Amino acid sequence: MKPQIWFLTGSQHLYGPETLQQVADQSAEIQRTLDAGLSGADLVGKPVLTDSGAIKRLMQEANADQNCIGIIAWMHTFSPAKMWIGGLDALRKPLLHLHTQHNASLPWSTIDMDFMNLNQAAHGDREFGFIQARLGVPRKVVAGHVSDPNVITRIDAWARAATGLQHLRGLRLARFGDNMRDVAVTEGDKVEAELRFGVSVNTYGVNDLVAVVDRVSDAEIDKLIAEYRDVFEIAPELLGERLESFRYAARIEAGLRQFLTEGEFGAFTTNFEDLGGLRQLPGLAVQRLMADGYGFGGEGDWKTSVLVATVKAMGAGTGRGTSFMEDYTYHFGPGEPKILGAHMLEVCPSIASATPRAEIHPLGIGGREDPVRLVFDAAPGPAVVMGMADMGDRFRLVANEIEVIPPDEPLPNLPVARAVWKPAPSLSTSAECWITAGGPHHTVLTQAVGAETLRDFAEMAQTELLLIDERTTPADFSDRVRWNQAYHRLARPL
Ligand code: MN
Repeated sequence: MKPQIWFLTGSQHLYGPETLQQVADQSAEIQRTLDAGLSGADLVGKPVLTDSGAIKRLMQEANADQNCIGIIAWMHTFSPAKMWIGGLDALRKPLLHLHTQHNASLPWSTIDMDFMNLNQAAHGDREFGFIQARLGVPRKVVAGHVSDPNVITRIDAWARAATGLQHLRGLRLARFGDNMRDVAVTEGDKVEAELRFGVSVNTYGVNDLVAVVDRVSDAEIDKLIAEYRDVFEIAPELLGERLESFRYAARIEAGLRQFLTEGEFGAFTTNFEDLGGLRQLPGLAVQRLMADGYGFGGEGDWKTSVLVATVKAMGAGTGRGTSFMEDYTYHFGPGEPKILGAHMLEVCPSIASATPRAEIHPLGIGGREDPVRLVFDAAPGPAVVMGMADMGDRFRLVANEIEVIPPDEPLPNLPVARAVWKPAPSLSTSAECWITAGGPHHTVLTQAVGAETLRDFAEMAQTELLLIDERTTPADFSDRVRWNQAYHRLARPL
């Protein structure tokens, strides 16, 4: 079932039943237009709201309804906003204030006072804007006629953010082992994360997983190998002298999937320093699970895993991919500077430009058997990378608009999946800003949703976001970091 967004239209009794019927009809028309334009959610119309009791009841219903991921509100006429105080104060779902009107053009030659009184969102929505500002309600404001594709695009971006937030609110994350020893940025406050985002993060001994992996039957492994042969290119040695390793990789996938399914987990982490009885660092298994929507972070990085799962939910159904990623190494020149991103093994095939190839190679760290992995180049196109850091008193999201490009030359000796990209506005400004913000080296790379969705998400989750884009300069950015620091400390309750 598609997630639902409820469409609320505000008015008042002053106008009489005939006008309110017109309001209801026109509201239904707007609702149908918006619904047709939303790609990932259904827009559900609700009766016109004219008093505080009905408004508060509806907001409470929205809070309690698991299918409702957010509210869009529009004041068709003038809806005195004191009637919205109780409802807005109770609302715990994301809110978008749509500032629009039924007619696109003024009927210059026929306009009279009846028309004026029916179509007065121009000031009705300002009254509504005041009360939201007065209450400090987090929301997105979108203004324009619904026939404008840009209006639909901006609402759709918000709806995808709301889908991500809803997924995050119920997310359970399993960590196999703890963080990589001595690493700072992958640490964080899991209690704060559960309060702020709703995600529950808990650790399991990796041998709890090994017990499940070891019990996987040969028949399950046969089935997976057959599936791999259908969907991937396979290095011949994996079907010959390295078949045992290939089958063990399949065994990890089946066991990991079973562990996550039984525990109702939507995300997980691994740590190459803590593999217990696992004979290979999970590579192929992680890649396959990410492709199915699971969040993942390497080295115990639960914050990035949470982001991967969340952004994957936002991008569901777009046909474009999202992956765990790490800034790995640079090309400063000749030509345009660019970043080569990858990880030891775990890049999601949803971002692949062509059929991934299953291969086996030695891995210098971890001290286990050679792991199987999928190797590919990421598809070119616009994307965003985003990471999360714990600043001690809050979480900070840092994002960068990027352009994924084909590698300058083939990379025949690189045994892992990778993405090459140009960060906006340039490699030096991007890196200077990212480092100034204390952004992490692990990120989520998404081609499925844009920066607007990520910004809307940060607003809904009431979490700081520092975005680096075409207009960013290091000087302005450092100022923003400094001001944000003050703002977030002042905004925090005692
Ligand atoms: Mn890493």
